[in-house]
Amino acid sequence: MDDLLSRTRAAVWHPCTQMKQLEAAPPLAIARGEGAWLIDTAGRRYLDAISSWWVNLFGHCNPRINAAITDQLGKIEHVMLAGATHEPVVALSERLAALTGLGHAFYGSDGASATEIALKMSAHYWRNAGRPEKNGFISLKNGYHGETLGALSVTDIPLFKDTYAPLLRHSVQVPTPDMRLAAAGESAEAFALRCAAVLEAHLAEHAATTAAFIVEPLVQGAAGMAMYHPAYLTRARALCDRYQVHLIADEIAVGFGRTGTMFAFEQAPPLPLAESGIKTVRPDFICLSKGITGGYLPLSAVLTTDDIYAAFYDDATARGFLHSHSYTGNPLACRAALAVLDIFQHDQVIAANQIKSIEFTRILAEVATHPRVRHFRQLGMIWAFEVADAGAGFSDRFHQAALAQGVFMRPIGRTVYAMPPYVTNADEMRGLADAVLACLDDPAI
Ligand SMILES: *Cc1c(COP(=O)(O)O)cnc(C)c1O
Repeated sequence: MDDLLSRTRAAVWHPCTQMKQLEAAPPLAIARGEGAWLIDTAGRRYLDAISSWWVNLFGHCNPRINAAITDQLGKIEHVMLAGATHEPVVALSERLAALTGLGHAFYGSDGASATEIALKMSAHYWRNAGRPEKNGFISLKNGYHGETLGALSVTDIPLFKDTYAPLLRHSVQVPTPDMRLAAAGESAEAFALRCAAVLEAHLAEHAATTAAFIVEPLVQGAAGMAMYHPAYLTRARALCDRYQVHLIADEIAVGFGRTGTMFAFEQAPPLPLAESGIKTVRPDFICLSKGITGGYLPLSAVLTTDDIYAAFYDDATARGFLHSHSYTGNPLACRAALAVLDIFQHDQVIAANQIKSIEFTRILAEVATHPRVRHFRQLGMIWAFEVADAGAGFSDRFHQAALAQGVFMRPIGRTVYAMPPYVTNADEMRGLADAVLACLDDPAI
């Protein structure tokens, strides 16, 4: 194992890591995985409590996803998607359209590329509509949409962004409805609507130069699992309609059941219509990745409305969306995604998770009431809280202490969160709760 660690230090540049710190805190040397567990080269087991950066849904080495990929390997591993098509990409596009109410799936290989695609499509739509000056973007304070230059331009995490500021395009951040920031005695909903009023004021002045508003629906993950009231999404939809600005839902982290519904957007209360009836709240673009393949293979997708698609459909080549990635629509990744959707359907995962999340919240009751814990919160299969007296270096100390307890967790600053694979069972969750309590009870952490 030592050999693997020295080789990784010499040969691999690890993501989101100051490599010098790997001397003191070496990465886990993982040999294999099994359900919710990671197993290192010495045979030690760690509960994967954050789903390998939020991507894993149905466990490691899931037999059903394995079988789908293996079957596809015997047919075709990859073919370019310009000038060719194949059954897995067509079937996946049909099923994603049925699930989201949007269509015309365009594929990338990771979340950041989905953000880039949605931003480019939005601005290109306005250009095709004869309004090229509508090319600005709005996002939420503390939002995260990926780290390539375009995605980083609408991301608002200083640690990731400040260094590259000279390379980025200006975008505008409006207040986040993060319920932790509500005034004393103010409800999460009232605060959300107060934040939406600032969005409205901005749109009233700048809609003519704005292409789109991009949001992480319900939970701002990288901000530290900041949760907000769904009324904000309904209001944002109504405002984007009124001011003719696209609404982009970045469901890269929250999609595929993470917040308790297949997509977080489904929890937005319907819009009352002036004429009659109600209108389901739907974004103009939805960005999907992370859980889409159950954590198996890199894949992302952007789906949009028929209207937006129609604005590109023309005899003129340049009015088309001339964007591509080499692995667009990779058949192996599409088969993994189809297997994931089959599991959702066959095992009634959304309904099962509803019961599971109530049970897990009960298991975490002692954590929720621990004297060091603030703002304990839960939505779907996400649990998070802040540690009141967390000092400098808390995140690393907690990470190491949890590992010693057999649990793999990485707090974001002083925010501790669990985002386990959906196959996690009550015993495993009790183990997680015990490990977290042991860390909280240690005043040196
Ligand atoms: C992870 C994430 C991204 C970026 O996805 P990558 O695959 O890491 O590029 C974008 N938006 C949100 C909300 C995310 O959580």
